Amino acid sequence: MAGGSDRAAWRGIMVVAQVTEEGFHSATLELLGKARELADRLETEVFAAVIGAGLGNAPAELVGYGADKVYVVEGEEFSSFVGSVFGTALARLVEEVQPEMVIAAATDQNRSFLPYAATLLETGLTANCMELDVDEEERLLLPTRPAYSGNLMATIVCPERRPQMATVKPYSFPLPSHDSSRRGEVVPFDPGPIGAGGVRVVESRPLQREGPDLRKADFIVGIGRGVADEKLIAQAQVLASLTGGAVGATRPVCDMGLLPESAQIGQTGVSISPKMYLALGISGAAPHTVGIQNVDAFVAVNKDESAPVFDMASHCVVGDARVLLPLLVHEVQKIVSK
Ligand SMILES: Cc1cc2nc3c(=O)[nH]c(=O)nc-3n(C[C@H](O)[C@H](O)[C@H](O)COP(=O)(O)OP(=O)(O)OC[C@H]3O[C@@H](n4cnc5c(N)ncnc54)[C@H](O)[C@@H]3O)c2cc1C
Repeated sequence: MAGGSDRAAWRGIMVVAQVTEEGFHSATLELLGKARELADRLETEVFAAVIGAGLGNAPAELVGYGADKVYVVEGEEFSSFVGSVFGTALARLVEEVQPEMVIAAATDQNRSFLPYAATLLETGLTANCMELDVDEEERLLLPTRPAYSGNLMATIVCPERRPQMATVKPYSFPLPSHDSSRRGEVVPFDPGPIGAGGVRVVESRPLQREGPDLRKADFIVGIGRGVADEKLIAQAQVLASLTGGAVGATRPVCDMGLLPESAQIGQTGVSISPKMYLALGISGAAPHTVGIQNVDAFVAVNKDESAPVFDMASHCVVGDARVLLPLLVHEVQKIVSK
């Protein structure tokens, strides 16, 4: 099994869908929207690949989000996730369809089986990207991700082999709306027998995340090392609860154990796109700020007027966040209690 180097023989963008108990992972839908935009520029098709069991009519939904053809790989062997089984099925589908690009959300599941498929296809994969673009003339996928500890953004291309593969951090693109008037095809695909290599799934349990989901919050208070202590975090939590927001943090704050790992924003944490981000005592290091996208108002409070965070903030406050936060909580409390 292998990919190819005859570039002209490979056409279309394939989005690998992730099925969850609640339906398709929202990052799958975001990627379909992005794939549609890129495919229109390349004048090519969008394919979705759905691997699972008991899928019913769900795959057809993806047509409304931008897919022209939805390939369905369905069977009992896909009822539990085994990386090698999903990876082999995907590689066989890709060989058959020959898409020039294969993209998937960088969820834990996809990040474990996409590299397996890439290895079988003898092609390259750019993992955990934050931006996707294409070079229409060369028909190149241009995936961009942080490199060198987040100190620069690198666009890593796969010029010779096909398909070109990438995983993209969830919440990197806006959710497209569903267009029920779109027409497309649902095509079953039988990958043939696949052995699990002695792996048997005994039990699967979803990861329990602590606290509110930062990825869905409209207002986030970000806590940095400069002000990291329990008292200030408690005040930030009051502000968040008054406004229906959430509290996030930089990596050092989570490493100190002051907030759970799920509160970490950035390259190795979650990506956020709230309407407003209030950064308190945060220097603005690239591994943190790459996780902040499409924010309407970015308010930074820092004692140091030369802090890099001020280069990207829309509203800059030079001052002591320990003084400002209690005043802010007091003012918001007055407004809310009116
Ligand atoms: C591979 C790798 C991955 C990483 N991933 C991430 C990631 O996902 N997320 C992340 O956040 N980091 C990540 N980091 C760490 C990152 O490089 C920075 O070290 C980190 O973001 C800095 O956190 P900070 O801004 O809280 O702390 P600092 O850089 O120490 O900044 C503290 C700031 O607080 C200000 N300050 C001090 N007192 C006050 C006060 N009273 N009021 C107002 N301001 C004050 C200071 O002027 C300073 O600017 C990663 C690093 C590596 C190497």
